[in-house]
Amino acid sequence: MLNAGGENILIDTGPASRRGLRVGALTARGIERGDIDVVILSHLHWDHCQNTDLFTNARILVHPTELDYAHNPARGNTSAAWYAAEMLAKMKTEPVSDGDLVTEGVSVIATPGHTKGHLAVLLETGDEKTLVADQNAIPYVLPEPVEGPRRAKLRV
Ligand SMILES: [Zn+2]
Repeated sequence: MLNAGGENILIDTGPASRRGLRVGALTARGIERGDIDVVILSHLHWDHCQNTDLFTNARILVHPTELDYAHNPARGNTSAAWYAAEMLAKMKTEPVSDGDLVTEGVSVIATPGHTKGHLAVLLETGDEKTLVADQNAIPYVLPEPVEGPRRAKLRV
């Protein structure tokens, strides 16, 4: 969770088993789920997006490759959130791609590898840059092979 450009931004929403913890952590900071303006989903594996429906006021940002895959996940892919396409269709979902600016000081970087549409988040404050790489460091092989380079080249 971060605040940038006057917006409350959440990166991934976690698994349903942590739903109460997610809401509790925000409440402890004086933030209600309706106060979240933007949710950036690094990818659409269930353990990263199951609680997205909590944030009905938020713009939901996800790479278009993830959205496409969510409509027809590979058979046997136990990591895929099979309901994600239906859930995101009911929300304010916006596709974002490499280099897109989310708000002042926050942009996304395409980091295919763990999934084809994986996103990292780049935070820039003054001279300091921080990359929230999420699971980019964890290769995901089957049943969703990645064509081309296994890891994206970061421009940080
Ligand atoms: Zn994953």
